[in-house]
Amino acid sequence: MPALNSNLASMPADYLFQEVAQRVTAYGQVHPDYPVISLSIGDVTRPLPPVVSKAMADAAMEMSTPEGFRGYGPACGYEFLRSGVAKNVYEPRGVQVDADEVFISDGAKTDTSALQELLGPEARVAVTDPVYPVYVDSNALAGRAGEYRSGLWSNIEYLPCVKENGFVPPLPQHYVDAIYLCFPNNPTGVSLSLNELQRYVDWAVQNGALIFYDAAYSHFITSAEVPHSIYECRGARECAIECGSFSKMAGFTGMRCGWTVVPRTLYGGTINRMWKRRLAAKSNGVSYPVQRAAEAVFTPAGKEHCRLNIEYYKNNARMIRNELRKSGLEVYGGVDAPYVWVRTPGGVSGWTFFDHLLEQAQVAGTPGEGFGPSGAGYLRLTAFNTAENTQEAVRRICAAL
Ligand SMILES: *Cc1c(COP(=O)(O)O)cnc(C)c1O
Repeated sequence: MPALNSNLASMPADYLFQEVAQRVTAYGQVHPDYPVISLSIGDVTRPLPPVVSKAMADAAMEMSTPEGFRGYGPACGYEFLRSGVAKNVYEPRGVQVDADEVFISDGAKTDTSALQELLGPEARVAVTDPVYPVYVDSNALAGRAGEYRSGLWSNIEYLPCVKENGFVPPLPQHYVDAIYLCFPNNPTGVSLSLNELQRYVDWAVQNGALIFYDAAYSHFITSAEVPHSIYECRGARECAIECGSFSKMAGFTGMRCGWTVVPRTLYGGTINRMWKRRLAAKSNGVSYPVQRAAEAVFTPAGKEHCRLNIEYYKNNARMIRNELRKSGLEVYGGVDAPYVWVRTPGGVSGWTFFDHLLEQAQVAGTPGEGFGPSGAGYLRLTAFNTAENTQEAVRRICAAL
């Protein structure tokens, strides 16, 4: 037997969505006449802007000509897309992000899982609870998480987000080298105001820690007090790295493109150099047609199409939120995010409420326990189904309460 990676071999199974799918399938086999509507999906469903598909097709054709052929692209991304992100995502918000601080990748999952490579083996990280599992898993795989016991890793600091604190994580109690934040949040759907986010930036600057900020849902923000980028906070260029993605913003979950901003002002340019060096060691970049497609997201037609798709999802979220609230359920999020976080009636477990809705309403959500111990007693509903299915699902949930 070869010496295997024990961090990988001993990873706890990621059974959440498997278990959800299994229960839905089992129900369908017994009740084929009652089709289940899924509000469990964490994936976009609206088609791409045609201008994006055309840009990809044109780029693919360009590659079949002697003049247009391209081999390996730059590991950090093509200049046209790096400056496209700086100019179209950050400049309109009045924050300083230069093209050479933007690094293109195949998505925010790749980048958020790679951020921990900036840290030493002894570093400690903090995450919110509930949490997008990627931040935790990537640290566990690197051997930095300690022992796994009853859903928690011994060497990770968890910041509980519960209704008592408005789903706003407390500052870390102990020193940590880095803190992962994701706002608007998956799974709670809650966002932070500029003043709330500023507290973490101040804390990080004072403590010499890094903030890893996941802004995958920034294009869902409409509330005036909610920052679209952490760089809207004073001092963030001295402590924060921000990941963005075309996935939820432009329907790119199947296309694969995202970016990470690593300011040159982080530790005198050290971190920016490290990220660049890491990419040179591990990546040959994202394909040219995909980067051209991503560039087309920033055309007027691309922007308008994306705006309408996001509005479509936001209408679904509003419908879920308003109707469930009218029926007396406690619901959170869903304003600046495609997720609604529902408190289970009577404080039953997320799985119990999941089973109840599956059997009585033929609607599937995602039990909060799957995102961490503080998710217990909640259910996540997503806005990614069609308006018709969402409306029908909400009607059935209300009738089943
Ligand atoms: C969907 C999602 C992403 C996007 O990941 P990609 O790899 O870019 O598709 C990132 N972070 C969170 C929290 C998400 O929910």
